[in-house]
Amino acid sequence: MRSRGRARGFPLIWDAVVVGAGPAGATTALLLARAGASVLLLDRSRFPRDKPCSEYLSPATTDVLERLGAGLLGAVERTTHAKLYGMKVVAPGGTAMIGRFRGASRPYSLAVPRTSFDAILVAAAARAGAEVRESVTVENLVWQDGRVAGVVARSCNGQRVTCHGRFVVGADGLRSVVARRLGLVRHSPPRRVAFTAHVADVAGVDEIGELHVSDRGYVGLGAVGGGITTVALVLPLRDVRRSRRDYRAEFFAELDRFPGLAGRFDPRRQVRAVLATGPFAQWARVAAVPGALLVGDAADFFDPFTGQGIHTALRGAELAAACLTHGLAPGVSATTSLQSYERARRRALRGKWLLERLIGLGVGSPALTDRVVARLARRPDLADLLVSVTGNLLPARRVLTPRVLARLLW
Ligand SMILES: Cc1cc2nc3c(=O)[nH]c(=O)nc-3n(C[C@H](O)[C@H](O)[C@H](O)COP(=O)(O)OP(=O)(O)OC[C@H]3O[C@@H](n4cnc5c(N)ncnc54)[C@H](O)[C@@H]3O)c2cc1C
Repeated sequence: MRSRGRARGFPLIWDAVVVGAGPAGATTALLLARAGASVLLLDRSRFPRDKPCSEYLSPATTDVLERLGAGLLGAVERTTHAKLYGMKVVAPGGTAMIGRFRGASRPYSLAVPRTSFDAILVAAAARAGAEVRESVTVENLVWQDGRVAGVVARSCNGQRVTCHGRFVVGADGLRSVVARRLGLVRHSPPRRVAFTAHVADVAGVDEIGELHVSDRGYVGLGAVGGGITTVALVLPLRDVRRSRRDYRAEFFAELDRFPGLAGRFDPRRQVRAVLATGPFAQWARVAAVPGALLVGDAADFFDPFTGQGIHTALRGAELAAACLTHGLAPGVSATTSLQSYERARRRALRGKWLLERLIGLGVGSPALTDRVVARLARRPDLADLLVSVTGNLLPARRVLTPRVLARLLW
């Protein structure tokens, strides 16, 4: 077990035990510790660690990082990164559209390897006063009087420890043990899995992220700085199970089957192993129960196509920390503050959920993708609008109107 942060005076009961130190957990811990709460932040990994991801921080994420302070934005900008100014989508039939980010003082997204991005957030949480313990796997929840009151965890030497908390925050990602122990996990189509890798010197990569859709699935790729491109191959779970192929070994052969990607990769220039993750989509029936709440992918993760997960994790952390800080104040009902988290999440994320689901389901239909991409290719203003909305720069309601939806389809 590796520990960083405060070295002495551990409370018997922490104000908050945060499970998972990815963007959602580290940011929740940072904000709670900054507000004066005693916070224990647990992760089964040791940082820096890799995470299967396309590593694009949607443009509005930059504003969240600036708002969080603690020198986070500066630290991200000082680390190796790339800037992406829009997204290109290539439809199964070969038609391509490009949308550029509009409506922001910084009309670009930062693309940063998760090894550095997540480690920056964890270090900031520790500096704010959170007690960070790595290589600790949470296995179960502690219940007391009908509410969650802590976690049971196992350290890398096999030792089991119980950590008590006034609140438990489940920020343990897609396969959240907290959400599963709470019995909240739900699945919905499309069920997809992803394989991701880092490759150097990919031909034709520039300052626009790329999404290539085929009848087999899709590939997202983009620069992350230092001549490295992050590549994610996303396939239907059903096909992966049926084919019994080893997609890690056949990663480049599979990429070559996408017309816009053939010949652009040199397998000898692969600089990080292929990581697999999934299946998605997964979401929790509710994100708060007595004594616990869920944030980030643990609360919901639909599909990576729109690349909004990190922004959602950070926004969710802001909402969670605000409600928990209120709930920790003397005389305030913990139940009321958890209910207010549920409402705040719904208000902030409802539009994004709907759009993300429509797009995620839509790319499963080659004919529909061909049709929409062809329309967007002819209407750059509409393409910019859609890309700016998925970049979280504009509210989802700007696209979710009968007029705009009709223009996308007819
Ligand atoms: C293929 C793919 C591409 C993506 N591309 C993008 C993109 O370009 N842009 C974007 O914004 N989003 C993208 N996403 C989504 C993004 O990766 C997630 O939304 C984001 O990582 C969510 O952060 P999180 O903190 O909720 O979870 P995570 O980042 O998954 O962090 C969870 C943490 O919990 C820890 N943990 C898990 N279980 C336990 C346990 N039992 N005990 C202790 N610790 C535990 C893990 O080690 C991990 O550190 C992509 C996702 C996929 C799958």
